[in-house]
Formats: sequence, C-alpha cells, structure tokens
Amino acid sequence: MKRIGVLTSGGDSPGMNPAIRAVVRKAIFHNIEVYGIYGGYTGLINGNIKKLELGSVGDIIHRGGTMLHSARCPEFKNPEVRQKGIENLKAHGIEGLVVIGGDGSYRGAKALTEQGFPCVGIPGTIDNDIPGTDVTIGFDTALNTVIEAIDKIRDTATSHERTFIIEVMGRDAGDIALWAGLAGGAETILIPEENYDMNEIAERLRKGQERGKKHSIIIVAEGVCSGTEFAKQLKEATNLDTRVSVLGHIQRGGSPTAADRVLASRLGARAVELLIEGKGGRAVGIENNRLVDYDIIEALSKEHKLDLQLYKLSQELSI
Ligand code: ADP
Repeated sequence: MKRIGVLTSGGDSPGMNPAIRAVVRKAIFHNIEVYGIYGGYTGLINGNIKKLELGSVGDIIHRGGTMLHSARCPEFKNPEVRQKGIENLKAHGIEGLVVIGGDGSYRGAKALTEQGFPCVGIPGTIDNDIPGTDVTIGFDTALNTVIEAIDKIRDTATSHERTFIIEVMGRDAGDIALWAGLAGGAETILIPEENYDMNEIAERLRKGQERGKKHSIIIVAEGVCSGTEFAKQLKEATNLDTRVSVLGHIQRGGSPTAADRVLASRLGARAVELLIEGKGGRAVGIENNRLVDYDIIEALSKEHKLDLQLYKLSQELSI
C-alpha cells in the first residue's frame, strides 16, 4: 500500500483531529502518502481530495471538531454513487481508506469494502454507541463537558432549592446520561435501555426533600424523551415545578481530553497498520485497554451494551 485516504463522517466528535493526525503521521512514518477527503462521503463523491503532509496536521491535536469537516450524505446508500467515490479514490492512486465516524459511517465503509475498496473504521462519536469497542473517541470529552454543566447547574439549583432536568445527547444510547449522571451525582438518570417508574422517581424526590436536600438533578437521555416532555410528566405526577436545561451541541465541541487524544492516537495508528497488513474491512476498537479489530460487518452486528452495573450503582448512590 503506497497511498491511503482518510475522511471523517457523520456527527463530529472531539478527538477526530488527533485521530486524523495519527493516521497521517503513522502512514508517513511508513512511507505511505496520505490524502484527506474533505466533507465526508459528500467530499468523496465530489472529488474533494487533497494531499496531506506532516505539517498539514500540525497544531490540531488539541482542537475539537474535524479539520477534514464532516457531512451527512444520504445518497451514499446508492451503489452507483459509491462507485463514483471509488473512481475518485482510484484516480488519485489511493488504495485504502480510513473512515472515522459513527455507525452510519461504518455502514458506508462496509459498503465500499464490499464493492472492492478496502476501508478501516475508527469509532468517532460522542454517543459511545459503537459495538466492538469499550469506548469511542469523543465520549470522554463530552462527559467532561456535561459534568462541567451539571456542576454549574447544581450551584444555581442549590441557591434556589430547585429541581433541574438536564437533557443530554446520546441518540439511542444512554451512555452519556449514565456516566455523566454518575460522575455529576445526579439523583435520577433516565436512559433508553431501562424503563422508568414515575412513582419511584416522585418518591425519591420526596425523600430527598424530607432530609433537607436543597436541590435535585435529573438527567434525561435524549433517547428517552425531551427534557421538556419529562418535566411535563413530572408536573402531572407530582405538581413539582422544574427547570429544564438542554445541553445540545456544546456536547460535541471543545478541546479533546487527554484520554480522547491518547485513544485517537492509538486507534488512528492501528488503522494504518491494518491497511499496511492488507486487512481491509476491519473496525478498530479498544477492549480492556487492548487494541482490537473486528470485521466491520461483525462489529456492526454486535450489540452495543451499556454497563447496567453502573446504572445499578448510580441508583444505590443516590438514595
Ligand atoms: P454517524 O456516522 O455519526 O452514525 P450517520 O448515521 O449520519 O452518522 O452516517 C453518516 C453517513 O454514512 C451518512 O450520511 C451516509 O453517507 C453514510 N451511510 C449511512 N448508512 C449507510 C448505508 N447503509 N450505506 C452506505 N452509506 C451509509
């Protein structure tokens, strides 16, 4: 393999930049040329492809977002459109592609591989919802953003003796809600993986008030319902007035944490090694602090499992 490409696709996440940097530097270290595809699969079909040098990825390790930009490209589900992308890659002499993104991006990478173009997937999403890895690039940074927000909301919640509902991202996964809720000391965490019992939540709030608690923090994963919707349900059940905070896209930004930079560097370098070994159609990940790789099809068919022990713990610690 003499020339590879790299792109970022789907929802961006902090840590995509250090992953791009690792791909570029590791490849150049092995005398492989690297081309950046700008704007995800849209850039691929439009031929928005430029050579990256060592210096092209200088000064990005600490920056959120992605220097290659990202996009959603619904037409990429069409095999003829993908073929156009493959032709653009071949026109530049590119023989393998690293795709950094979420499960949708993996499906695109899988489809390209099945059409004969070897791709390796790197899990880049704040949602932590990719199977075949304990953790995705961007999850740790998003968690830290969320707990910073929870800590601030806790200050005002205490001053005014209020109950706050904080809606966090995660799509269909409850990982951000669970981890941030646990780390932020939330009283109640609602995740899509578990049903909630409004009576139990009301009882918990009542007990807290009885023992003189000044505030309550309820974290709602967007995969359950909106924070506003939950506030309405809680009002109907308890007549309690709450304040709702929707953290939104701030969770996708910010300088990647050390954990995300290290993870991105390791996974980026491993993806290049796999292409060098001629192993296309793989997805890299980390399990028990060891780098792993799976067939991208197999990885997607596995189910991402949220750590329900953590959920149990969060309930035990918020009695
Ligand atoms: P993420 O990668 O963050 O999950 P999306 O689900 O939006 O984000 O997927 C990113 C892009 O991947 C889509 O816009 C599309 O171009 C491509 N993609 C998603 N699903 C498929 C599929 N089944 N086949 C081919 N390409 C796909």
